[in-house]
Amino acid sequence: HSKSAGRNAVRFFDPAMQAAVVARATLQRDLRHALRDGELRLFGQPVVDARAQVVGQEALLRWQHPLRGMVSPADFIPVAEQSGLILPMGQWVLRQACAQLAAWARAGGERAQWSLAVNLSPRQLRQPDFVDTVQAAWREAGADPRRLKLELTESLLLHDIEDTITKMEALAAQGIQFALDDFGTGYSSLAYLKRLPLAQLKIDRSFVRDLLEDPNDAAIARTILQLAKSLEMEVVAEGVETAAQFEALREMGCHLFQGYHFGRPAAL
Ligand code: C2E
Ligand code: MG
Ligand code: MG
Ligand code: MG
Repeated sequence: HSKSAGRNAVRFFDPAMQAAVVARATLQRDLRHALRDGELRLFGQPVVDARAQVVGQEALLRWQHPLRGMVSPADFIPVAEQSGLILPMGQWVLRQACAQLAAWARAGGERAQWSLAVNLSPRQLRQPDFVDTVQAAWREAGADPRRLKLELTESLLLHDIEDTITKMEALAAQGIQFALDDFGTGYSSLAYLKRLPLAQLKIDRSFVRDLLEDPNDAAIARTILQLAKSLEMEVVAEGVETAAQFEALREMGCHLFQGYHFGRPAAL
């Protein structure tokens, strides 16, 4: 039966696959409603310096689902990316983040100096009007663009690299800084890395986790720090969960730190 149905025919004989397709469609629909009904939340996780002083936050998206509770981005970002919903959703995150920066500036005190990092989907960057969209977001909110950081992953290097560089440079000229997220897990070519206007590399938490037990992970962390130094970039270690990891990374010369040891993501 499956052969005669042809290669492209939808086959309903696999209940597990059918269930997955239905689940995905349901998630997509619910996600569209989430955006419309205001179920998205922006959480923040502190970023600290070598003295463990908070210097900023990373904005992390959450979905306050009426039945499922707080849904993690790992469970819905991939679906949002496939359906294109990541574009209006990313727009919401940018506006929300800029409003937060403006509120910190108004409140004064040390928060007025904090930066806020926003995660971007490669699909956002590929929009022809991306530079204008970002500029409109900080302008309309009255936020200082020098406090806004944009986090990209190495997967963006798979697409039109010249276009990416042009857009990044236009935004960098506005004072916005870029960080390369989850560094070490992707496809980075060192030749490209040097051409991107990056202010920061973020060591992926998979290298931080076993840093003290696994000499290979320690070597990777050291190598990233050396690379960043010669490219004049800062390094942020993510996933720092213990004082011992903090101490080891600090001794290696790491500049900035993020992880449960300093604070979990919480409502901004
Ligand atoms: P990411 O940008 O690498 O964010 C760090 C993730 O590590 C966060 O997960 C954070 O909660 C988690 N984390 C932080 N410290 C620790 C730690 O000490 N130990 C452990 N085990 N985990 C830690 P989260 O919030 O679930 O976000 C997952 C990913 O979803 C993010 O990874 C980012 O790639 C994506 N994401 C989050 N918000 C957005 C957004 O607004 N837009 C886009 N496009 N992607 C987003
Ligand atoms: Mg990030
Ligand atoms: Mg990260
Ligand atoms: Mg990561």
